[in-house]
Parts: sequence; structure tokens; C-alpha cells
Amino acid sequence: MKALPHLLVTALLAASSSFAHDLVIANGRVMDPATNLDAVRHIGITGGKISAISETPLTGEKAVDAAGLVVAPGFIDLHAHGQTTSDLQIKAQDGVTTALELEGGVYPVASWYASREGKAPIHYGATVGHITVRFAAFHPEMRLGQWGGGRSRLAQLGPNPAGANKVASEAEMQSMSAAIREGLDDGALGVGFGINYTPAATTEEIEALFRIAAERKAPVFVHTRAFGIAPIREAIEAAKKSGVSLHIVHIGSSAIGDMPEVLRLIDESRAAGMDLTTEVYPYTAASTMLESAMFNPGWQDNLRITYGDITWVATGERLTKETFEQYRKQGGWVIMHMMKDANVEKAIAHPGVMIASDGVPFVDGRGHPRGAGTYARVLGHYCRDKKLLPLMDALAKMTILPARRLEGHVPMMKNKGRIAVGADADITVFDAAKIIDRATFEAPTTPSAGVSQVIVGGVFVVRDGELVKDALPGRAVRSTP
Ligand SMILES: [Zn+2]
Repeated sequence: MKALPHLLVTALLAASSSFAHDLVIANGRVMDPATNLDAVRHIGITGGKISAISETPLTGEKAVDAAGLVVAPGFIDLHAHGQTTSDLQIKAQDGVTTALELEGGVYPVASWYASREGKAPIHYGATVGHITVRFAAFHPEMRLGQWGGGRSRLAQLGPNPAGANKVASEAEMQSMSAAIREGLDDGALGVGFGINYTPAATTEEIEALFRIAAERKAPVFVHTRAFGIAPIREAIEAAKKSGVSLHIVHIGSSAIGDMPEVLRLIDESRAAGMDLTTEVYPYTAASTMLESAMFNPGWQDNLRITYGDITWVATGERLTKETFEQYRKQGGWVIMHMMKDANVEKAIAHPGVMIASDGVPFVDGRGHPRGAGTYARVLGHYCRDKKLLPLMDALAKMTILPARRLEGHVPMMKNKGRIAVGADADITVFDAAKIIDRATFEAPTTPSAGVSQVIVGGVFVVRDGELVKDALPGRAVRSTP
């Protein structure tokens, strides 16, 4: 009998070396919008990839029980300005496994990617950004780097910076064209535009730069020249002429009061064969930098608001004419209460409209709650409580649709947004009955509730509802391998 413990140890060693998978997510309700699978399955993960999807139990070196919980592809955020480690940790707790800076973009691209390496809990990536490229052409002494990243240095350029407000010469056009080509060579995910922030960029300039993206088969991600349907038409026409794939960002604020007409225009353009997509964040307030050209004279007509509709983020106070002028010189983040919930709901429920946060960086714990609560808010508030759309459709808007938006230009995205054998093991496990956003305008970094496990490349970033603080498995997403 003395040999028994030894035999047991031997048997256990044999068993451990025969585990088929590194990790098993057992008994969960697997929902995969790419295939419409909605059934209890066991998921095996090995080497950072999904290695099995099984109706019968699997053995793994580690296992987590997901009985009663939804097991979905990790959420892909196409609009994430907040790219610091802590910004991305807050996003992970909202179920996000990939957060991309596509609207503002970055420049130079290679050094931005290098600066993020080893610091990201979830996957990250960026476009080359027209705004930053334009400022580099006009103000070669100053590199904005990432548009809207962290504390803005824009205010240092004074009230009327040429990068925003001066028409480009031939030399400046060439400089911008070269920078965009260089960014795409460096693996940028497309080209980002914020035309509202560079009002002097003519339609001809935009079209010429769209053509560079079109030549490279790269999509463009566009914040239009102004709010409402007319500038959305301008972007669509320019994209048609240049043959580029167009994604219009944050349709809630971009369409503003014209939502039904804008959604109809987008549907008609798509039906006519155009590669055109859009996204929405589930909040009625926008956020940006007060020193930006969005607040050039005429902003009240464009945004359809006035001073008292704007919150100064640093203090939470509402602005007056006097404080508006004072803070605009200083520079800093504001929140603009400018949308109607009925219009935001129309966009969330509309087929094909993706969910993306537009999360701006949190500065000293302050900012817009969308950077923390977007995904749980759609799943809990709009999908479960208000019954705006079925759960599978809501998940599609967060997973497979954003993956497909990018995968033509970014082959890596073919392995994301799906529960499939061989796909990246980026997985979010949540309680459909409990998931809800908790971030508010008063406490914007409060993590969402009901997100149980977030796995990034096979590594837990959220485990049993708690952030794993030292987990940094996020990898760069680039258009080139
Ligand atoms: Zn924007």
C-alpha cells in the first residue's frame, strides 16, 4: 500500500501532461454572431488561440466555470482615444479586448506603436491621422503625436493655429501625402480624419488624401466637417469620387438632429454598392478639447447648443461666455450635452451600425463615462432593459462587424471578433442579467458590472470580476504582419 501515493503522483503527472488545452471555459452559453451559434459549449484555449469548441466537457490545465454566463468574442472598439495602460484597463472591465484609435489617429506611426509595446492590457492600434499629419506640415517644430492623447498641447499654438485654419500650399499637400504614405507603410490601420478640427482643409484636399488611402486599399475613418446631414453628404461624395472605403464615426453626434435622414442615406449608399459603415456611442453628450477648431466662431450653430450646455471637465462647472473664453485660451476637455436619446436609440437599434466608445483619455480620473461604460450600457440598459435589439445583434455590433470593417486591409482582424477554432482567444464572459454600466458624468471611471472574465490572447485581464492589474498581454494590431 505504501506505493500508492507514488502511483497517484505518477498518474496525476501523466494526466497533467495529457491535458488537451491550456485553459477551458466550461458550460457557458456561447454566442458567436459570425455563425449565430447560441448554445452551451466548452471552449478550449491553447497557445493564445481557441483550440476547441465542444458539446462535451474538455480537460485543461486551468478551467473556469461559465455556467449561466454568456461567452462572447471580446469586444472590438474602433474608436478609443484613451490609450494609456489605465484607460485600457478600464475598457477591459467593460468587456473590450481590442481598442483602436482610428478617428484621430497618430503620427508618426512607428514611434507611437513602439511607445505602447508591453504596456497594454488589451490589443491596440491606430490609423495615421490627417489632423496630426496636417499639424506636422504646418508646425514642423511641434509633434502632436496622438490627437487628443492625454493633456493637449494644442493650446500652445494660440487661438488660430495654421494647422487647423490655413489652406494648404502645394508643398504642404506634398508633405501630408508623404506622411500618410509613410504611416500606411508603417502598418497604420487606415487614415483618420477629423475635418471639423481642420476647417481649412478643402474638399479637394480631403479627396486627394482619400485617393491615397484608396490606392492602398485602406479605409478612412471620418469625423465630418460639421454636424448634420450636409457634411455627411460631402464625405460620402468625396469617398465615392476617390473610391475609398468610408467609415463615418460617432453617428449620434455627427447626424445630430438629422438621424432618420442620415440612416436612410447610409442605407441607400450601401444598397448602391458603396463600402460605407458607421458607429455610435450610447450617450447623449459629446466630448472634445475646448481649444480645438470645433469651437471656432459659429460653433453654436454647428453643435446646436450654447455655453450652458458645455461642462468644463476639470471642475464639472457649466460654462458662461466669460469662462468659455478664459478656458479656451488655457485649453482642456469639455463635455457637450447636445443629443437626444431618441436619436441615439435609433442608431443603436439600426442594422449594421456598430458600437464604438469614442472614449477620451481620463485625466486625473475625470472625463466622459463612455470610455468606461459603453459596452455594458448597450448590453444592459439598451438591449436588456429597454429591449431595443436582440442580444445577438448587439454582440454583432461589438465583435464581427468591427472585425469585418477592418479585415480587408488588416488581415490580423480575420482572427478576431469570432468564437472559432484557430481564432485569437480574445473572449468576454458576462452575466446577461447583471451587466450594466456604472460610470457616470460625476464618476466617469467607475468600471462596469457583470463582466466576469476577460481573456486577451489566452491571458486573463479580468478574472472573476476583478481586474488582473499586472496582466499586459495586449499586442499591436497592424495592417502588416
Ligand atoms: Zn470625433
